[in-house]
Order: sequence, then structure tokens, then C-alpha cells
Amino acid sequence: MYTLVIHGGAGTILKEDMTPDLEKAYMDGLNQALQAGFAVLEEGGTAVNAVKASLVVLEDHVLFNAGRGAVFTKKGVQEMDAAIMDGQSLAAGAVAGVRNVRNPIELATEVMRNSNHVFLSGKGANDFAIKQGVKLEPDEYFFSQFRYDQWKSIRDSDTYSLDHTHHHLEELMRDKKFGTVGAVACDQHGHLAAATSTGGMTNKKYGRIGDSPMIGAGTYANDATCAISCTGHGEMFIRAVASYDVSCLMEYSQLSLQEAMDRVVNTKLKQLNGEGGMIGVDGKGNHAMIFNSAGMYRAVKNSDNFSQVLIYQ
Ligand code: ASP
Repeated sequence: MYTLVIHGGAGTILKEDMTPDLEKAYMDGLNQALQAGFAVLEEGGTAVNAVKASLVVLEDHVLFNAGRGAVFTKKGVQEMDAAIMDGQSLAAGAVAGVRNVRNPIELATEVMRNSNHVFLSGKGANDFAIKQGVKLEPDEYFFSQFRYDQWKSIRDSDTYSLDHTHHHLEELMRDKKFGTVGAVACDQHGHLAAATSTGGMTNKKYGRIGDSPMIGAGTYANDATCAISCTGHGEMFIRAVASYDVSCLMEYSQLSLQEAMDRVVNTKLKQLNGEGGMIGVDGKGNHAMIFNSAGMYRAVKNSDNFSQVLIYQ
């Protein structure tokens, strides 16, 4: 069985906060990304190319906190993080703090395929983007009034926000919402891949990097176990080494994908107050989508004719 799973962020996503139009826009975005990635699998393409195809759609979509829809940093610019991992070879590529790159996941893939390195950051990553001919866009491309207003409301404070407007820290803690996009796939040959891309957190500063581009924290893939992409309060996912822990629980304790993800999300992350969730697949194409927050934008499609697009619990 081949399978594609995607997410568009987890957090306090409640039906009563949603308008029908906005809900439809999110569902449409998820659907489009799901079809794009699944088409690659259907044609016999690789898991790596499938997760990349899904992420490009989500990065180009203004509603999701990645690529075009990335949030503003303290300095009023977008700094994006992304990672991709190939479960067959354990090859990986990641970038952090890149600017003006239309599709950070393309750049991460270039790092994986065409550099001798795994993880590039800041100006060096941007120089590499130019050298590889990765598509760049002017600042205006990344500007959206919604993100700007969100940032303006907290830019003079020390608060950082997980992809929604928060005026006070208490409000932030009560009403955590996350952006970030991710995809995991099991292709027709049973090979796995994972990819994650994010603008990080609104008003982040000091070159803050989250879990998304860190192999083993927000992103991990290994044909022997699983492919995982996370979303949530990145600091806790880094400390929990969340995605690699799922793989370890499967490898060393023989837990199933579902059991391992449940342990990490609902026990280990919860102990750290780590809010969020993750999506995963194993080498048989089984999938799971688990979160400890009110909602997670998520979707799955497999070759057994199973397909779902969901937002709430
Ligand atoms: N995990 C991301 C980060 O901490 C945020 C998110 O998932 O929305 O950068």
C-alpha cells in the first residue's frame, strides 16, 4: 500500500473561531497539496518527490505559515526553515533562516542532493540558493496584510507567537496556534520520506530556529521504521527529539507506528508542556495523525482508496 499524509499545522483550532469561507479555503489548500503529492506516488514516483510536491503547494499557499505565507520575525522580515529526509538512504537536507526563497523545501532538497552537507543556514544557505538557481522572490511576494497586522500587534513586545495574533503572553499560552506544513509518504516500493517547512513563530528573534529543519526533532525518515513530520511548540519538540524518538520506540521497543506516536505526543511531549502533533507512515503504508492540541490541519490518501481531510479532533 502506498500512502501520503500531510499537515498544515496544529494548535487551538476551534470550529467556533472559523468562518465557513476560511474553513473551505484551508480544506481546498490541503486537498490540492494532497492530490499533488499523491499523483507522484500513483505514477510510481519516489516518496521524496511526493512529499516535495505536496510541500511546494502548501508553501505557495498564503494561508499556511511556510513559503509565501511565512510569518514576520521581530525585525519584520520572513526567515524560513525547511528539511527533507529520504528514508531509503538516510540522506537529508535542511536550511534555516533563509530569506526570499520561494520554496525552501526545494532548497533543502538541493542541499540533500547537491552539496556535501546536511544543514545550511542564513546567508550561506541563500548564497547556495543563488548558485543552484533556486527560485527567489522579492519581499512583496511574502507580504500579506494578515501576517503584517499579526506582527504589528506584538512587534514592540518580547512576546513571540505561534502563528496567530496574541497581545499578551497569557493570551499566547491560552490560545496557541501553529502554522508549519509537512508531508510524509510511503511509495510503491515501500520507501519512506518526510519533509517539513515553516516560517517559525511570529516575532521570533536572535536567529531563533525551531524543530522543523532539525533532523530527528521535527523531521525524520527511515525505511526500517517510519517517516515523521511534526508541528507545534518547536522548543519542546527539539528537547524531546520527537520524531527520532518515534523511530527508536519502533526499532528498539517494537511499538507500532500508532503506539510510538501516541507515546511521544501524549506522554513525552505533554510532560514538557509541548503542544502540537505529528503525522507518520511506516514501511507498509500504515499512517497515523496524532496531536494533543484542539486541532491539526491534516489529510491522508492511500492506494486502498482511503482519503480524509480533517481539521478538528
Ligand atoms: N514547530 C514550528 C516551530 O517551532 C512551529 C509550528 O509548528 O507551527 O518553528
